[in-house]
Amino acid sequence: MECQDYALNRTLERDNLNLNPLQRGGFLPLEARKALYEFSDGYSVCDYCAGRLDEVKKPSVAGFLDDMARFLNVDAVRTVHGAREGKYAVMHAICQPGDTILVDGNAHYTTHLAAERNQLNIVEVPSSGHPEYEVQPEGYREVLDELQDRGEEPSLLLLTHVDGDYGNLTDSRAVGKIARQYGIPLLLNCAYSMGRMPIDAKKLKADFVVGSGHKSMAASGPIGVLGIKEEWVDKVLQRSSSHPVKEVEMLGCTSRGAPLTTLMASLPHVIERVGNWDEEVKKTRKFVAMMEEMGGINQIGIKPTKHDLVRFETPIFHRIAENHQRKGFFLYEELKKRNIVGIKRGQTQWFKCSVYGFSTEQVDYIAHSFQKIIKEHPQ
Ligand SMILES: *Cc1c(COP(=O)(O)O)cnc(C)c1O
Repeated sequence: MECQDYALNRTLERDNLNLNPLQRGGFLPLEARKALYEFSDGYSVCDYCAGRLDEVKKPSVAGFLDDMARFLNVDAVRTVHGAREGKYAVMHAICQPGDTILVDGNAHYTTHLAAERNQLNIVEVPSSGHPEYEVQPEGYREVLDELQDRGEEPSLLLLTHVDGDYGNLTDSRAVGKIARQYGIPLLLNCAYSMGRMPIDAKKLKADFVVGSGHKSMAASGPIGVLGIKEEWVDKVLQRSSSHPVKEVEMLGCTSRGAPLTTLMASLPHVIERVGNWDEEVKKTRKFVAMMEEMGGINQIGIKPTKHDLVRFETPIFHRIAENHQRKGFFLYEELKKRNIVGIKRGQTQWFKCSVYGFSTEQVDYIAHSFQKIIKEHPQ
């Protein structure tokens, strides 16, 4: 049989500035590209395995997990296949089918799916709605009290540390305090924060943290990170009765080979870059200011933003699109001409973007390009 042409060539990232927030934190440094090559064969991390992936010494998966635990200030770390698998594993280990869990109104769809696959009921703590969509910690207390009045007690609280729609950074510590008062564990979804900004799980009062290697930790993935507080370690990492060295929730082994080794190779780079987080936020705020100055472009979500993912409402581009031959495609096409990508084709009413990791010159170029597009098009 002959295969079709799968078009397995990609120069998009090399040739353009990519504004897609999903991609900004998953870019591999050189060390990780080398690891990707060295460990590209299937079970390449298993040459010296004695039965437990997390205990492999060559390459030092064990040393890496210890370093990651210190980096996140948690008592145990395992890698999983993604943030979603981390959430799924925690829910599966500590909740029973039919249980209720409490999640924020900005929760990612994978939170909903992880709960659904575990047959859990979801109760939502609503956000403040348009335009800030802020999740207030006290909302957790209110909903918990309402549930208690009905005789219901959730078995888990989940908070999206930074959500993927508005880039809102939530006050985990305040939610964590409420969780402690009610005696319910807190799972913090750090897919958009771990690897971009510092995470101290103890300070944030989270019992569990999950991160995404391919989203925010400069790994090719798919890989996620699950950090666990001491008191939950035995429960979440319970051993198999038939294969006593294997951990059941991990199905023995999780992500291995290139996904794992790129995450390992990137850790020093990631540790260094989270130290520059304040600069990244400043840069983003400056970018937002430049965009808003043009008129007809407004950042929504918490203001000033506390994260690199920003969402703009862009009535000006929508008006241009109405009169443009290419309709909604004009914006994508005009940006592409200037080697800027990452904004969905056909979309002009609003978009999400990020300038994480770009230089000041690149950010200026991006903002000026938007400005030129506005100037060149009648509304
Ligand atoms: C991207 C994202 C996820 C999914 O991460 P995976 O590692 O791909 O599972 C989960 N939650 C949030 C908030 C995200 O933005």
